[in-house]
Amino acid sequence: MTNLFEIEGNWFEGVCSNHPAEHSVHYLASKLHEIYEKDQAGTLTEADIPKCDECGAPLALNMAGEDFQINQKQVQAFQDFIQKYEDKKLVVLELGIGPRNQMIKAPSM
Ligand SMILES: [Zn+2]
Repeated sequence: MTNLFEIEGNWFEGVCSNHPAEHSVHYLASKLHEIYEKDQAGTLTEADIPKCDECGAPLALNMAGEDFQINQKQVQAFQDFIQKYEDKKLVVLELGIGPRNQMIKAPSM
């Protein structure tokens, strides 16, 4: 497992558009590659839209928004890291985040 905390999601996961919290997160890396190849070949159709395994609804990318499902393993790993090193001096690098965004800063402080 990588030591990432993707607090706003990523483009490799999909959530059910009808039941984002109830149905499982789908890992789309291979499917996205297939979609890219079909798009390049001009053979992409609506049938290629990724669907939920549990209900058949189209998947939405698991990105920040009202349907976003944060990765609880990453949340726990971040909390464990903060607790483990709470007495140490830490340098926290936030890449690609604005100065007013407190999503990482607040729990770290
Ligand atoms: Zn579903």
